[in-house]
Amino acid sequence: MNKKISNEILNILKTIIINPKPELDFNNNFELVVAVALSAQTTDKRVNEVTKILFEKYKTPYDLMNASVEDVKNIISPLGLAKNKSNNIINLSKILVEKYNGEVPGIKEELIKLPGVGNKTANVVLALGFNVPAFPVDTHLIRMANRLGYVKDETNPNSIEKIYKKYIDEDQWILAHHLFLLFGRYHCKAISPDCKNCKLINYCRYKDKKMI
Ligand code: SF4
Repeated sequence: MNKKISNEILNILKTIIINPKPELDFNNNFELVVAVALSAQTTDKRVNEVTKILFEKYKTPYDLMNASVEDVKNIISPLGLAKNKSNNIINLSKILVEKYNGEVPGIKEELIKLPGVGNKTANVVLALGFNVPAFPVDTHLIRMANRLGYVKDETNPNSIEKIYKKYIDEDQWILAHHLFLLFGRYHCKAISPDCKNCKLINYCRYKDKKMI
């Protein structure tokens, strides 16, 4: 990989993903951090179905910090890991109220101290909530990095984040994240990638391309 090839890949991706934008629904940074904390090991679609109900009942961290774990668990049960996730978002709300006056902090070092918020979640909140250059790496971004030659047989998201950042200009990080994520989600899927119609086939290192 080099910057020239990376730029070519991004330019092609821009012609494939016409209106790249996040697929998680949120109206403010509180809803964003909760939605991302709930999104582990499930889909954005499911999270959106659940948060529609959750945020109708618990609109602010002040509301959610006083919720019962049982009630939150019942609402978010379709997402899996419901007990852990319920505890996390209730405790996260308490910290937002007690330490940050009910606001979500826009600093990575503070975000990663919140329950249920790791490096990727913090990057999503910074990028989508604060428009701060960040590069969240999820399963799609890991797959794309390997197939498109940013890395070889690497699965560590932190290492892959560094590599993407090395070859992509900082002012493109948020856009590039959306492009790779949506391309991975809808075109270059894990099991049945659409290789036959892929504009990136000349850049692709994936040996098991699906041509039929
Ligand atoms: S050729 Fe197939 S595996 Fe390679 S990037 Fe395109 S869709 Fe993905």
